[in-house]
Amino acid sequence: MEQTSESPQKTFTCQLCGLCSAFTYYGQKPPNTRAIVLLEECFVTKDPFSPDKEKFLVLGSTCSLCSKCVCVGSDCSLFYTKRFCMSCVNKHLDQFPHQIQAELAKKKQNSKAAVS
Ligand SMILES: [Zn+2]
Ligand SMILES: [Zn+2]
Repeated sequence: MEQTSESPQKTFTCQLCGLCSAFTYYGQKPPNTRAIVLLEECFVTKDPFSPDKEKFLVLGSTCSLCSKCVCVGSDCSLFYTKRFCMSCVNKHLDQFPHQIQAELAKKKQNSKAAVS
């Protein structure tokens, strides 16, 4: 069902890092874009820094396992055929391909180094 009336601003909140931002659209085909179909249903907002109407930003999506809202930041979610939040990724890490496991391990090392 299409809603044509202007709805009040909706807010996307990442349930992992708490990132909070207004979004204008949720789905796979952002409006005012030519032939863009996203790989997943996303929270999308118009790019506030671009005068180009077709420019948009993907804020986040929902985890395909636990349905948490997570942002696309690499600390919060991973896209591997579907969107997974980091807590699900860590829980099911052995089911991801070795390449992804290796990438995540590398990232963990880097963040540890940054903290100390
Ligand atoms: Zn986040
Ligand atoms: Zn999850």
